[in-house]
Formats: sequence, structure tokens, C-alpha cells
Amino acid sequence: MPAVMWFRRDLRLLDNPALVAATEAGDGSVLGVFVLDPALLRPSGAPRLAVLYRTLRVLDSQLGGNLVVRHGSPGDVLSRLCQEVATDSVHCAADFGPYGAARDEAVAQALPVPLVRTGSAYAVAPGRVVNSSGESFKVYSAFYRGWRRHGWPQPARTVRPRWISARSDGLPADPELPDGLRLPDVGEAAAGQAWRSFVTDRIEDYADQRDRPDLDRTSHMSVHLKWGTIHPRTLLADLAPGHEVYRKELAWREFYADVLYHRPDSARQYYHGQLQGLPFATGSLAEQRLAAWAAGRTGYPIVDAGMRQILAEGWMHNRVRMIVASFLVKDLHVEWTDGARYFMRHLVDGDLASNAHGWQWVAGTGTDPAPYYRIFNPVLQGKKFDPAGDYVRRYVPELAELPAKYIHEPWRDPAGLPAGYPERIVDHATERSASLADYNQLREAHR
Ligand code: FAD
Repeated sequence: MPAVMWFRRDLRLLDNPALVAATEAGDGSVLGVFVLDPALLRPSGAPRLAVLYRTLRVLDSQLGGNLVVRHGSPGDVLSRLCQEVATDSVHCAADFGPYGAARDEAVAQALPVPLVRTGSAYAVAPGRVVNSSGESFKVYSAFYRGWRRHGWPQPARTVRPRWISARSDGLPADPELPDGLRLPDVGEAAAGQAWRSFVTDRIEDYADQRDRPDLDRTSHMSVHLKWGTIHPRTLLADLAPGHEVYRKELAWREFYADVLYHRPDSARQYYHGQLQGLPFATGSLAEQRLAAWAAGRTGYPIVDAGMRQILAEGWMHNRVRMIVASFLVKDLHVEWTDGARYFMRHLVDGDLASNAHGWQWVAGTGTDPAPYYRIFNPVLQGKKFDPAGDYVRRYVPELAELPAKYIHEPWRDPAGLPAGYPERIVDHATERSASLADYNQLREAHR
């Protein structure tokens, strides 16, 4: 009998333990299916949907045109498929996110055959890294040590199933995309190529240069990890002992997935609930500020460059994600949940765990043990990490002619602000003091 392979965030054939299990479960023939679930499509913006659809097109060609794509709720679609195709197992990788885990339980109940979950999108599945008392880690550094001790298997062996097919709703066309949006090449081969180019050309400089958005020295693996066109185990297997800094970055992704697994509410709610009472802008003030931030028109060049990078590419450099997030929360006093929602709509790598906890880390409400006093100064951050201003010039054409001396504080240029570039919407020093005062007041209230 054929097995069914339910692809979700593992859109690859190599190093895919669930596919190995599917191939071995029956007579070697496998039907690959992807379910376009409205619950997951709804919160995704056009850039991420386009990346998903393009990735599915690549996967379909890898399957010789046999990928079955169907719209609907996964329980209904898969139950019907099991009636159409005589099979005795449906295979997938385990999902540990709040929606995915509940969905998979419901599907397992609905199916007439077992739902076999093998592997996950992580080197170590969320929930597995625990301390000697069997408890989860609340702090990254301790998690990292535990994660290293736990270890992970080598990449899974390669299988060559005989792909079979069934009726398909067909591959969706790209959604309408903003003019000029530049999306990365996607699919398993593109992921492998991007990884090899990083390992050949940039990994040795990663530790020193990863914080420099002007140099663009990071791996750009996030979009591939998001859709599973490459597995973190494959990346880890290629790292030399000296590539510790890169290994540690991959571990952040694993840590946040683990935190979310233990605290599913933290996807949208404060990890540290006592910070819930901070005063934030509301109504039209919050809307205006959010709109200026989202359009890259705050008057702070590094913030504006980052927000325009996300519009241009659906991706933003990590250092700049921290700067723009800090600016929204601590300078504009807009709640982190609004920023996190915006990122999830616009990022091609939008990932619930990394995004929610990236925001909470910056907002000071998350897992960082010394959090709230860190308020990024957008001018100093710009000068330090984009010293010549090349990153700003790349995304903010109004500032392209400014010399490095004024690029991060164009208001100081004796010639005045370049035409078309906005005045600062707030004064950083004033808003920083206001944020700290709010925080101290809240702490007093909790004493
Ligand atoms: P590299 O520097 O090459 O890092 C390699 C990989 O390590 C990344 O692909 C990613 O999987 C992991 N990684 C690195 N830094 C982090 C981190 N801080 N947290 C979690 N994983 C990390 N990452 C996402 O994948 N999806 C998101 O939705 C997301 N939202 C974020 C929101 C905020 C406010 C912040 C501060 C960070 C967010 N990150 C998110 C983490 C990080 O910014 C991106 O993973 C990184 O910029 C992706 O680029 P890269 O692949 O070139 O990274």
C-alpha cells in the first residue's frame, strides 16, 4: 500500500525523517500532499504566501508533478484523501507550535489510519532539553549548554520513493505583490546553494561581521528554515568546532521554539505578565506612529532603512530588527504586539516563536533576565553598525547623497534635511526617559 506524506514546514526531500518513514511504511510508493489551510493562510502577507507557493512549485517538480495540493481544513482533506487512496498511514514531522500541535491532535482523531509523526523542524524537538530536575530552561545560556549536551542525530538518509498522485486543486498562482519586491530564490536546491555560498564565502567572518547590515554577511537561512527547504541538522553537520557563534544563533531559534512549547500563551501575551500594565499610546496617536514606522518615515535613518528593507525584500537584518523593535516600543510607545503582528504579515521568514520572542526580548517582557533598561539609541547603533551609512543609503534614497558624518543624524547637516526626508517624529532622549519612568513606576506599583 502507498503511504501519504503530509508536507507542512518540511518542503524538501533530503534529510527528511518523516519521508524516510513514509517510504518504508508501505510498498515504497508515496503520495505527497500539501493542505492550503485557511487558518494559516489568513495571517500571512503576500510576500510569505508568494514564497510558500513558489516553494510548492519547486517541490511539485521534484515530485515529478505529483504533488497533491488541496484547500480546506486538514482533518477533512486528509480523511477524504484516505478514502480515495488505499493507505494505512499518513506521515508528517511533528509540529510543536500552539496551532500546529492542536491541529495535529484533531487530525489524528479524525483519520481512519494512524498519523505518524517523525522528526521536527528542529535539531532537538521542543520539550526535550531539560535540566537535571527535568524542568525546562528559562534562560538562553543555560538552554544552550543543555542543548549542546543533549546533541542531535546526523542528517537522515536519502530515500527515493515512487511518487503517486491523486486529484489536486492545483498550485496557486502568486498573490499580487507590491511593485519592486525582491524575493529570494526558494526551494530545496536554492536553499542548498545559498548555504554552500555562505559556508564557502562568509562563515569565517560571521562572528565579527554578522552585526553589520551594511556588509550583509549573514546566511539568509531563515526563509529556508521557515519552510523546511533545509533542516538545521544539515547546517549543524557542516559546522566546524570553531563556528560556535553560528551554532549559537541556530540555538536561539531552538530556544524560542522550546519556550513557546512550554508557554503557548507567550505567542501573543506577555511572557512576564507583570509588565502588562505599561502605558502605551492608543487610538489615533498609536495608529499614526505605527504607520510612520511601517512606512520608514520616522526621521531616524537606521530605523527607516530597516522598515524599508522589509518592504523591499520581506526580510530585515537581525541587528536592525532589534533597533526598529526597540524604537517602536520604547520611543514611540506602541505595544510590542502591534509590531509583532506587522512583522508576521511582512516577513518571508515570519515564525511565530522567533518573532514573538524576538519582540518580547527587545520590549523587555520576555526571557532576557536583565531586560527593560536596554533601550537602543538609533543614532549610536547606526554609527556603530553602519559606520559609512551604506545600509541607510541602500534603502533611503533621499539620504543617498549625505556624507557619512550626517547620515545617521541628518538634522545636524547645516544644509538642512534633504528634500522628502521627514523630521524626527519624536526626540529619542525624551522618549527614553519617559519609557524608563513608566517602567520604574510600574515596578513600584508591584512592590
Ligand atoms: P543568521 O545570522 O545567518 O542566523 C542563522 C539562523 O539562526 C537564522 O536563520 C535563524 O534561524 C537563527 N537565528 C539567528 N538569530 C536569531 C534570533 N535572534 N532568534 C531566533 N533565531 C535566530 N527570525 C525568524 O526566523 N523569523 C522571525 O519571524 C523573526 N522575527 C524576529 C523579530 C525580532 C523583533 C527580532 C529581534 C528577531 C527576529 N528573528 C526572526 C530572528 C533573526 O532576526 C532572524 O532569524 C535573522 O535575521 C535571519 O537572518 P539570517 O538567516 O541571515 O540569520
